[in-house]
Amino acid sequence: MNAFDLSKFEEEAQEQWTHAFESNPSNLEKCYLTVAYPYPSGAMHVGHGRTYIVPDVISRFWRMRGKQVLYPMAFHVTGAPVIGISKRIAKKDPKTIHLYRDLYKVPQNVLDEFTDPLTIVRHFASEYQRVMTACGISIDWRRRFTTVDPTYSKFIEWQWKHLYEAGQVIKGVHPVRYCTVDDNPVGDHDLLEGDKAEVIKFTLVMFQHGDAFIPTATLRPETIYGVTNLWANPNVTYVRALVDGRSWIISQEAAEKLALQDHTVEVQEEIAGRDLIDTTVNHPLCGKVPVLPADFVDPDMASGLVMSVPAHAPFDYIALRDLQRAGKYTQIKPVPLIKVEGYGDIPAQDAVERSGITHQMDSRMDALTQEIYAAEFSKGKLFERYGGKPVRVARDEIAALMIEKYASKIMYEFDARPVICRCGNKVKVKILHDQWFLKYSDPAWKKQVSDHLLDMVLVPPEVRLEFDRTVDWLKDWACTRRVGLGTRFPWDTTQLIEPLSDSTIYMAYYTIAHKIREINPGLLTPEVFDYIFLGKESPDLPEKKKLEAMRKEFLYWYPYNYRFSAKDLISNHLTFQLFHHVTIFPKDKLPQGMVVFGMGLLNGAKMSSSKGNVFLLEDAVSDFGADTVRMFLMGSAEPWQDFDWRNELVISTKKQIERLFNTVLESKDADGEPHDIDRWLISRLQSHIERTTEALTNFQTRQAIQEAYFGIETDLKWYRRRLAENSDGSRELHTLCSVWIRLLAPFIPFTGEHLWKELAGEGLVSFAPWPVANKKLINTRIELAEELISRTVEDIESIRKLIQMTPKSIAISIAPAWKHEIFRLIARSNNRNTVIKEIMTDDAMRKRGKEATDAAKQCTTLIHRLPPHVVEALVREPINELEVFEAAKIFLEKEFGVPVHITNAESNEHLKAATALPFKPAIIIE
Ligand SMILES: [Zn+2]
Repeated sequence: MNAFDLSKFEEEAQEQWTHAFESNPSNLEKCYLTVAYPYPSGAMHVGHGRTYIVPDVISRFWRMRGKQVLYPMAFHVTGAPVIGISKRIAKKDPKTIHLYRDLYKVPQNVLDEFTDPLTIVRHFASEYQRVMTACGISIDWRRRFTTVDPTYSKFIEWQWKHLYEAGQVIKGVHPVRYCTVDDNPVGDHDLLEGDKAEVIKFTLVMFQHGDAFIPTATLRPETIYGVTNLWANPNVTYVRALVDGRSWIISQEAAEKLALQDHTVEVQEEIAGRDLIDTTVNHPLCGKVPVLPADFVDPDMASGLVMSVPAHAPFDYIALRDLQRAGKYTQIKPVPLIKVEGYGDIPAQDAVERSGITHQMDSRMDALTQEIYAAEFSKGKLFERYGGKPVRVARDEIAALMIEKYASKIMYEFDARPVICRCGNKVKVKILHDQWFLKYSDPAWKKQVSDHLLDMVLVPPEVRLEFDRTVDWLKDWACTRRVGLGTRFPWDTTQLIEPLSDSTIYMAYYTIAHKIREINPGLLTPEVFDYIFLGKESPDLPEKKKLEAMRKEFLYWYPYNYRFSAKDLISNHLTFQLFHHVTIFPKDKLPQGMVVFGMGLLNGAKMSSSKGNVFLLEDAVSDFGADTVRMFLMGSAEPWQDFDWRNELVISTKKQIERLFNTVLESKDADGEPHDIDRWLISRLQSHIERTTEALTNFQTRQAIQEAYFGIETDLKWYRRRLAENSDGSRELHTLCSVWIRLLAPFIPFTGEHLWKELAGEGLVSFAPWPVANKKLINTRIELAEELISRTVEDIESIRKLIQMTPKSIAISIAPAWKHEIFRLIARSNNRNTVIKEIMTDDAMRKRGKEATDAAKQCTTLIHRLPPHVVEALVREPINELEVFEAAKIFLEKEFGVPVHITNAESNEHLKAATALPFKPAIIIE
């Protein structure tokens, strides 16, 4: 009994694959593919599935094309997230317990051990390996490692020694994102929310309020001349604090933030926001102004109080106008100070009125603010009475003046909120001293990376812009942390190298990972790695034989051919790894290509583990079968496009695989003699081979499935329709099945192996030779003939639907030779406008008069409609339409169940016969 049973095929194949994908240097050309290694802190979902299946399909493709393919995998366990998770589990945090017990299905006895962070990563690392294997991902698992292995740490120390010697690791004072609960700088990976927020430098403008200062943060210190009031939130409790020995009135949040930014802060008393309203403040550059109430003032933004410049800031303008409409503060008038082209005296008023915005909460307010900000910065000039300088000059001068004379300070704050750490705490900006940085701001280092990018293949090509932008924009990167797992920082062993900084050249480590663990980590000095990776000899190298073997592996595999990753890693990991490579490796060992993925959606919404909107990969495999999951993920979108997982569509993918299975079993033993239709099938097959090969060479998994699955399936349907009665097809079907299974094997390897056995294929299909198109088997004449027949059948069907009568006979009338001549002339011509005139210079044509010009017009339209390759073939190698239809007469009569007459249009009296065109005979149904 040979039933369609995916789980049985999975079991069969797994037995044979146990060591099949372990890959060693050989005489073959190599192909080394890597994908960003996972951080195993939770279960894999189908989005992860795609990340690892795309490189697997490409690996399988190149393996079948005869390359020595390496696809390794390891686990990134560096950093603090898993420590936070273990703490939350120890505290029995219900949300975390729910996630791990109910969503990730961790058994209770294992969950109990999760209070140890290493247990978490060990558990999920082996889960990842198990699920990846279940998905048929062809990994060389001998090379598996984790980033906390002692040997790996030795490798990282070696890497950092080189970065340090190149002057790219520096110590400095910098504002960084910081979590006060973890007492650690926060990287992109440590954020729950706010990864787009940037740290911005504000000037604090200090207003005198009795014996205290009220600081307000601004990016536009020059607008001090136009301040008409301050805004305070009457519902907020502010504090009076001694900041560096002076009394400030600020929000509580601001007091905490300033303490992280090199100020001594001592909170003395609370002050109700409403008690500040209607008091007066003073600044030497604007004089006395009142404090007005405003609910929109956010105590968590900078100092928690705001200065108001209604002439130039739309928010301030509307807020003041609203108060005045209620009859309050009507004596206050906006004070303009900047002249800018395109606006009147009060630009904020112009902009608000032009846009039709009526209230503060309008979502367009931010854009409006930006518009004025940009216009004034690029073209604005201060009024003469304020110095008359362009805004771009005045801004820095006034900021410097305020700092020098008017007690102003700098305050760092995010440009967007909220910024939330994975631990749930709000992230703040802290100025770190003695912080270590990677000097990504270094123009010379940037230049090396930009230069190398020019030599790289980037898929899809549009991402190049984003890489260029990232290289340009990257600033120094805080590269150490106090808390977490990882390698100790060599120059300050109280700190650890952070996760995005210890994962940049590990692709080189894979080449030796299975061999280096045979050596005692204590022996792994930098000289050892200098020898393995750089070929630098030193006296007294230990275990020289083993080192030589590793050097050989590295030289064989490196540089990697392609790195695969999701597109959100362009702004960090994918670019960082280029920075590190150009410093450490010689030019011929630098990365060659990158393939960047789109995102995963689940029923139209973004997949997110933290929001619970995920479908676990393991569940998908057990519900639908690994091949179904693979074919769906590869076929529903190209890798760089977003895909959307929908169970109902996945079910139809499973049915497609079942159809393939049944078709192969039914067809493989056919033994009839081949006819024209078999030659047609095999001719078409050559182009499917060619196009599938081309698509996979370009990483177009969807296009490849369109060709290899749907293209061939459609042909087979037509083939069966065209077979003579009582025929099961010819022995060519066996050839087709063998090609078909191999073209699909990278996508559905389990079904592939099973069917390959059914066909008595040699060895594993995973290593079977990839089909190669044979040009000699391409028969354009037969393909054209079938195209003509299938188009005519479609035409007859649609006419029949239209006239809604039971036909007694069908006549097919073939266009006369002179129309074929016109068709060829037009198709060959470069200028379709003048060609009709040229045709009419011919005597015979001119005699036909209107009939000929009409035919020329109709041929032109038809040529536009036909696929270009058909037109080209018709010109090159005309077919005898009469013969084609005569040969298909029996088929047509069987299809339509009535007598079919084939005639020359000129011998047919029927009016409609005159409409016959080349490749489009007239059809007369009676
Ligand atoms: Zn935190």
